[in-house]
Amino acid sequence: MQSSSLYIDGGFVEARSRQTIDVINPATQEVIARVPDASDADVDAAVAAARRAFDTGPWKESTAQERGRVLFRLAAIVRDHAAELAELETLNNGKPIVESEFDVEDVATCFEYYGGLATKIHGDILPVPDKALSLAMREPIGVAAQIIPWNYPLLMAAWKLAPAVCAGCTMVLKPAEQTPLTALELAKHFADAGLPPGVVNILTGLGETTGAALVRHPGVDKVAFTGSVEVGKIIMRSAADTLKKISLELGGKSPNIFFADADFESAVDGALFGVFINQGEVCSAGSRILVQRPIYRKFLDAVTSKARTITIGPGLDRTSKMGPLVSRAQFDRVRGYQDLGKAEAKLAIGGGRASGGVLERGFFVEPTIFYDVDNGARIAQEEIFGPVAAVIPFEDEEEAIRIANDTYYGLAAAVWTRDIFRAIRLVKNLKAGIVWVNHMQPTYVEAPWGGYKQSGIGRELGKWGVEEYLQVKQVYINLNEQPIGWY
Ligand code: NAP
Ligand code: MG
Repeated sequence: MQSSSLYIDGGFVEARSRQTIDVINPATQEVIARVPDASDADVDAAVAAARRAFDTGPWKESTAQERGRVLFRLAAIVRDHAAELAELETLNNGKPIVESEFDVEDVATCFEYYGGLATKIHGDILPVPDKALSLAMREPIGVAAQIIPWNYPLLMAAWKLAPAVCAGCTMVLKPAEQTPLTALELAKHFADAGLPPGVVNILTGLGETTGAALVRHPGVDKVAFTGSVEVGKIIMRSAADTLKKISLELGGKSPNIFFADADFESAVDGALFGVFINQGEVCSAGSRILVQRPIYRKFLDAVTSKARTITIGPGLDRTSKMGPLVSRAQFDRVRGYQDLGKAEAKLAIGGGRASGGVLERGFFVEPTIFYDVDNGARIAQEEIFGPVAAVIPFEDEEEAIRIANDTYYGLAAAVWTRDIFRAIRLVKNLKAGIVWVNHMQPTYVEAPWGGYKQSGIGRELGKWGVEEYLQVKQVYINLNEQPIGWY
């Protein structure tokens, strides 16, 4: 078992806090590591290091080319250690190893994208009607607190770190209490990548204490958060006291909409991939499957029989297509929704814990499909964050759009049809930050990611992601040597 410390000011240091958190392998419930539960004093130390690095350290004078090179080196290091990082991710989070391998590849790609973007950020010269040079300069916001969830532990860390480094900010990252290991592993390589001390700091700890202390801290200029709507609201309120800039990437209850003219086989695959990938622990999961009446029964049968073939098992076993849920708490929560669903709708498959053999040791649940679900039911309105789908029938386009938008979330949506005109009408009418046509889930670092409505504020990834870490300074340089001559 490994025992970790906090990463502050360029090195691993003993926590001031004596409290620790047990880190568990969700496939076996074994304790695999113990990490500090950082206290207010640890938060002060990390923020002070980030503050120094931003205000007076060499980072302040770093060029865009230098920051870009740091990110390219980080990407290369991630690629060199891809196998270990993927294995550690699966050990800690539970997801199938193949999915961790894709995540690690996406982490490297994210660092490369922002490495390249660093030298493309520039200001403007404005054509003011006077003898003057009017400039809009782009400057880093300062110290960012970055708080992330457990579903894509290393990838969420990369989505936060890469644009902030690119912009020239400094940062304190708090991984989720359940899954701190890959971020700490990555930190071992920060110095080799050329990150000066204090630029990136990592604090393990609980949200209610460590996370909340970061959000309140007067030394923090910006909070970037990914997680639940509930905690997003708490963060927005708390950040108001010091008027910090915030960006929030929150949850969803995304509709995956199937019209009768869609390619049937692709549609069936798309429905399952949309909701069951990563054990359904995906903010953009297509957890509401809307199906047009003429194909409803046939589609439900096909999706159900294919779901039966999903191999559930420990993520490190390469034959597993679905791993355990991340924690006891998440297991209990999903089990609760499985039971609720039986009262609210009809059950096509699953509905309980997955048992037998090695499955007894971990937090495994069955992929579950409910049908004839009313969109007003709790299983259609509340984010479950597990492999539980609600299948809902609809008559026509108008009804599909109405049901799809009848949610306070607005992260993502997908529509499957061969009718290009209909597809575009749906794209325009769906109130979501991401809309896929004839696919669900592809995510690219080049393209913006974020939600409408209560699914969030701001955008990650692409050129939009770096904007969240920049602010604009307006500069006026007088070119007229004559006095103003007003008085
Ligand atoms: P969560 O409870 O909201 O936690 C997210 C992070 O916030 C964790 O690091 C957590 O610490 C911390 N936190 C909790 N309370 C806090 C507080 N009062 N102040 C500051 N930080 C606090 O969510 P989760 O259960 O980890 O993850 C699942 C949720 O994340 C889902 O709702 C999902 O939709 C959403 N999500 C969204 C996206 C997206 O891109 N939009 C991506 C992934 C996940 P602890 O670890 O100690 O709880
Ligand atoms: Mg939590």
